[in-house]
Amino acid sequence: MSITIALSKGRIYEETLPLLAAAGITVAEDPEKSRKLIFPTNQPDVRVVLVRASDVPVYVQYGGADLGVSGLDSLIEHGGQGLYQPLDLQIAKCRVSVAVRAGFDYEAAVQQGARLKVATKYTTIAREFFAQKGVHVDMVKLYGSMELAPLTGMADAIVDLVSTGNTLKANDLVEVERIMDISSRLVVNQASLKLKQAPLRHIIDSFARAIAQD
Ligand code: AMP
Repeated sequence: MSITIALSKGRIYEETLPLLAAAGITVAEDPEKSRKLIFPTNQPDVRVVLVRASDVPVYVQYGGADLGVSGLDSLIEHGGQGLYQPLDLQIAKCRVSVAVRAGFDYEAAVQQGARLKVATKYTTIAREFFAQKGVHVDMVKLYGSMELAPLTGMADAIVDLVSTGNTLKANDLVEVERIMDISSRLVVNQASLKLKQAPLRHIIDSFARAIAQD
């Protein structure tokens, strides 16, 4: 019974490696140095596929992968349909925040009943957040470089992932509200969990033990 694990490049991949090692799985080749998308592991029946962060829940939902590691941000935007979410892996931690240009009067702009132009990749998270505040939002969906939107006058505010805050600072933007804390979750295809119960349980339990030791 072969197992496919979906990961995304960068922090999620790097911080998942020790968890995989705890389950006895090592990836044979360094994906950062390769254009390949499928990577064999030391275990003949386990492979890793690398996809965009926002596609990890999609691959796992439709069975393109049996399990994956997804940021809570991507998971919320996806909706979580068809996914079993057994573990908060406590990795790739960051936050989703609202940021505006330095000098922009955010307090005045988010009065009850006001209208705010928001640029973001995280439209579900942003919509819900501003709806709760009673602020009407004109949403501009972007796929990257959100920081540019307020600087070009395309939006009043952005909703984006923030880790150190250096990217905001470098672009003269100010974090004005923290919407939620983010970490990565283990997601498992619900049908796979029934059909491949023993090998998947072994991985889930190994990950859980590794997290508990930290
Ligand atoms: P920073 O400058 O450390 O605040 O990082 C902000 C930039 O890194 C933004 O472009 C974010 O979209 C991205 N980023 C921060 N944390 C994460 C994460 N955990 N996963 C993916 N992207 C992130």
